[in-house]
Amino acid sequence: MDQEHFPTDGFADVLGANKEYVARFKYSELTGRAAKGLAIVTCMDSRINPLSVGGMKSGDAKILRNAGARVTDDVLRTLVLATYLLGVDRILVMPHTDCRMAQES
Ligand SMILES: [Zn+2]
Repeated sequence: MDQEHFPTDGFADVLGANKEYVARFKYSELTGRAAKGLAIVTCMDSRINPLSVGGMKSGDAKILRNAGARVTDDVLRTLVLATYLLGVDRILVMPHTDCRMAQES
């Protein structure tokens, strides 16, 4: 989608917050490598902040998210790349309590 057709009205809140984020951005020194050598596979549930759970900050770990913290073929492929290219040498699969993906209905 090109910028001319981007629905800015529908994303005004996000775009406004992004301007503030960019103005205060403090991680430009980080590389693409996982500073703590960690990858976390967790659920897409927005109640989870995977970095805060482990006392980490931006740049410390690679985060992979999907419904239910499932280790799918795509997640495996990404973890292999992260291991070879992004300094990952530990992988934490982190499901959570009260996950809708783990419930019967
Ligand atoms: Zn979940």
